[in-house]
Amino acid sequence: MSDNIITTRFAPSPTGFMHIGNLRTALYSYLLSKSQGGKFILRIEDTDQERLVEGAEDVIIKTLEMTGLDYDEGPGIGGEHGPYIQSERKDIYKKYAEELIDKGFAYRCFCSAERLKSLHDDAGIGGYDRHCRELSREETEQKLAQGVPYVIRQKMPLEGSTSFTDEVYGYVEVENSELQDQILMKADGFPTYNFCHVVDDHLMGVTHVVRGNEYIISTPKYVLLYRAFGWELPKYVHLPLLMGRDEEEKVSKLSKRHGAVSFQDLVEQGYLPEAIVNYIALLGWCPKDSNQEMFTLDELKQSFSMEGLSKSPAVFDYEKLRWFNSEYIKKLPDDEYNEKALPILRDVCPEYIDTEKLAALLHSRISAFSDIPDSVAFVTSRADMELSLYANKKNKTTPESCLETLEDVLPLLENTVSWDNDTLFVVLKEYAASKEKKAGAVMWAVRIAAARQAVTPGGATELMEVFGREETLSRIRQAIDELRA
Ligand code: GLU
Repeated sequence: MSDNIITTRFAPSPTGFMHIGNLRTALYSYLLSKSQGGKFILRIEDTDQERLVEGAEDVIIKTLEMTGLDYDEGPGIGGEHGPYIQSERKDIYKKYAEELIDKGFAYRCFCSAERLKSLHDDAGIGGYDRHCRELSREETEQKLAQGVPYVIRQKMPLEGSTSFTDEVYGYVEVENSELQDQILMKADGFPTYNFCHVVDDHLMGVTHVVRGNEYIISTPKYVLLYRAFGWELPKYVHLPLLMGRDEEEKVSKLSKRHGAVSFQDLVEQGYLPEAIVNYIALLGWCPKDSNQEMFTLDELKQSFSMEGLSKSPAVFDYEKLRWFNSEYIKKLPDDEYNEKALPILRDVCPEYIDTEKLAALLHSRISAFSDIPDSVAFVTSRADMELSLYANKKNKTTPESCLETLEDVLPLLENTVSWDNDTLFVVLKEYAASKEKKAGAVMWAVRIAAARQAVTPGGATELMEVFGREETLSRIRQAIDELRA
């Protein structure tokens, strides 16, 4: 292989959104090369024209950009092995397919669609019967002259077996008699994935093929292609499936019924790209000699190695992702955090709410930005509440003691001019001292009256500051009325 530098690629087909499993493949492929100063290539595999989805390519590129998986060569940026979109490389493959025909490793198949269909039973099972495999040169020439459309098929050996050693799964061997004479070039002139990815991986100098294990069973066919061309085989790194767990604890391939499965959906739900990357890095890989869980992309590049890859399927755990996300939100600098949190808060909060102060209270308390509207519901409306909330064991409060406190502090607060946390704290503390009450008991009464719920982000005076003067006083008056009734 060209200059011995580790070269990996991510080779998605633009068929829709970016599944988390695909993103993990991209990440591992990226890390494998970057952990060793190698090269990472993005290649778009769009030769199956029927499966193309408009805009899917942009989604791929955007996702790699947002996650920081920078590629050294690829669409848009180019490189020495371009173009990087397979439909733009269409002319390259034909020559290689013909080389295989010349060498006796492939043949033209002129069978009509009807004939092929008749080979399949109703369930669609049944393979190609190799009808055209031994066509004579004359027969072939004649059909070509008549313009009969054809595909090019790989001529599989009829005996023996083919094997390779996967870096994750180990030794894999199949009987050649089980291998179909698969199509390499279709009648429309486009190559199949089975063919063009091999040509491209070779031409692009890919040293390690990292991909999902659904390809492991076909890999012997690709090995035969490399041998037919006399090319050096890349190393294969097949990755186990990503699984999801349903409500009945049943584990199956991660799909929509488990929750969001695309990168975009997770981002829309308020997960940070860094948190997603960190979490999925651990779904099938773990560091060699440590229990470290928090990794930046740079740290992953330092720590990643193939020995840490596992062949057991990993189960995607949304709770665990939430935990990672909350850690990453806590670490966000205030300006970046505010940039995300404030628009949401401004959208749901009445004008008198100090959204910046509220945002600060939530910074260490949310697991996803999408939690914000629910977590501030007590600010945006006044829910019905049980008066029993005023009773608190630790602070020895009862609804009656709270009523007394609220009746006392209302005039004090009405006379408080500067409405900020520090001032309010002093007012309430001095009141508590003057009545020989526990400060905690006073704070409890005021906080419950203001928030109307037991658990709140922030203490009594912080919340009073968020609500502002009028709203706080109005809530305390309402609480007094309710407690009196
Ligand atoms: N285009 C294939 C896919 O998206 C890539 C498989 C491979 O990496 O070789 O599944």
